[in-house]
Amino acid sequence: MSSRIGIGYDIHRLKKGRPLWLGGIQLPFEQGLDGHSDADALLHAIIDALLGAAALPDIGHYFPPSDPKIKNIASSLMLEKALSEITQAGYHISNVDSVVIAEAPKIAPHRDAMRAKIAQLLKIPVSSIQIKGKTNEGLDAIGRGEAIAAEAVVLLEEK
Ligand SMILES: [Zn+2]
Repeated sequence: MSSRIGIGYDIHRLKKGRPLWLGGIQLPFEQGLDGHSDADALLHAIIDALLGAAALPDIGHYFPPSDPKIKNIASSLMLEKALSEITQAGYHISNVDSVVIAEAPKIAPHRDAMRAKIAQLLKIPVSSIQIKGKTNEGLDAIGRGEAIAAEAVVLLEEK
């Protein structure tokens, strides 16, 4: 039985007047991430890690930013699409690890709610998903509070 590893990365600008979606839940914060969809950088990183592990095309192939139908689409629906693609390709998820890089808000108080939501969407145990929060130590655009980025790695197993 073969295992396949995948990596994903995403970054979105913070913007006033947008809700902040991260890890499939809405966080209380004065700004939100800007983008065509709900701009959930963590879910987008996980989606690309899942698709990449199965050598499938990236998120932009399934959800082109130019498509008006995806305006403000929930990234949870995009994650479910990625799950369905890797399932059809003959894989199941062993585990997901991830990092959210944000100067604010703090990720730790929301970690378990995000893990529970992602576990539910991916139909895996909560113990198979982890999320760490990091700041950028005040450096660069993330450090200035202008953006939030996320990285994810996943391991798939052949069914
Ligand atoms: Zn994104």
